Amino acid sequence: MAIFVEVDENNPSIVRDASKCVYCGMCKKTCKVPVCINCGQCANFCPPEAITEKKDFDKIREIIKNTDKVVIFNTAPAVRVALGEEFSGEDGEYVEGKMVTAIRKLGVDYVFDVTFGADLTIVEEAAELVHRIKNGGVLPQFTSCCPSWVKFVEMYYPEFRKNLSTAKSPISMQTATIKTYFANLKNIDPRNIITVAVAPCTAKKYEVQREELSDASKFNKMEHYQDTDYVITTRELAEWIKEENIDFYSLEESNFDDVMGKGTGAGVIFGNTGGVMEAALRTAYYYITGENLPNDKLEFHEVRGMESVKEASIDINGLEVKVAIAHGIDNARALLEKIKAGEVTYHFVEVMNCVGGCISGGGQPKITLLKLKETRLKRIASLYSEDERLTKRLSHENPEIKELYENFYKEPLSEISEQLLHTEYFDKSNLLEGKV
Ligand code: SF4
Ligand code: SF4
Ligand code: SF4
Repeated sequence: MAIFVEVDENNPSIVRDASKCVYCGMCKKTCKVPVCINCGQCANFCPPEAITEKKDFDKIREIIKNTDKVVIFNTAPAVRVALGEEFSGEDGEYVEGKMVTAIRKLGVDYVFDVTFGADLTIVEEAAELVHRIKNGGVLPQFTSCCPSWVKFVEMYYPEFRKNLSTAKSPISMQTATIKTYFANLKNIDPRNIITVAVAPCTAKKYEVQREELSDASKFNKMEHYQDTDYVITTRELAEWIKEENIDFYSLEESNFDDVMGKGTGAGVIFGNTGGVMEAALRTAYYYITGENLPNDKLEFHEVRGMESVKEASIDINGLEVKVAIAHGIDNARALLEKIKAGEVTYHFVEVMNCVGGCISGGGQPKITLLKLKETRLKRIASLYSEDERLTKRLSHENPEIKELYENFYKEPLSEISEQLLHTEYFDKSNLLEGKV
């Protein structure tokens, strides 16, 4: 058996250049599955960069140079606490303002914040959770924002696919909204919009190609196009900025563009293990009680931290909501087996493929093994301190989200929300045939 992971040439997330391989076996040791779930962790730990993400930034550069397309960038929360490391910044340094300026310098038309999309996901996903609890729906509800986890369930545990929240990931909600609501607002033909996500993640390159994530074209009654056109990783963004000779640390700071440029503290912590759970609990509390959590009760420390599986029982006005959080696909597998055996029961389960969450995604600046733990903790702390700093810390209180619902989606789980913000999952166990 090969000492390295086999990378299919059609893999949308990673490539392997055999000529650079030193046959160290690190990729094989890192990979936890026999059939790829696109997480990119093997690329993070391949010393000579024989395995890397499949790079897409040149294509976007060409589009910016040679076409009049409206190019819209959307940056995920975890990117801003790692990008600085590529420019000799401190580990985990929060570089949001410089990142936005650097992207504008690349010639991009709009720079939006996926923290906005994260708030949108929470509004829909928390509403779905409360609906499932009150109406005897399938429980536990699983988070669905991590495409590697979703693919893992579809391939290895398809019997659990009804547990996955139908809420799309933040990026996929955001781009479906750009090519409908935003396009209409600005009077732009959605066919002329190129949406780019900057993500810590290589699996997003796979996610955006899912056939069903093209709801904007169906909504607009136009020929098929993807809601998200391209995904580039944090590392790709850094490479591009360096190639353009932009001196990152001498840049002024600037703000995201309006309409989808504001995120709350709840959206920001999406990048951390336990962050989606905490954000959802804050909003679920509001849906159940009709009141916002008081400021001194906003933080759910029992769902934070690096323990492989965390459990908590949260009392919301007498309703006991039982939750679990797993990070790392091995830990998720063990948790699923326990749920399957009926040894544990929960209402809501968060899973992230990457250890620590998206802050150590497969497209983030590489960390040496010696500094692995320390750097992950610094990135995590940086997102939590931004949450503490912000005055808006509840997704449903995001003023731009409120405006979006008033003008377009009406309410969570409405017909139009279901059409553009929710999706479905499939039994993909056939992909394992002959492989396991
Ligand atoms: S991308 Fe992830 S799942 Fe795919 S080969 Fe690499 S480590 Fe394994
Ligand atoms: S980690 Fe990289 S160098 Fe090592 S075996 Fe895998 S592909 Fe080859
Ligand atoms: S945990 Fe985050 S970075 Fe890692 S695969 Fe999932 S979505 Fe991507």
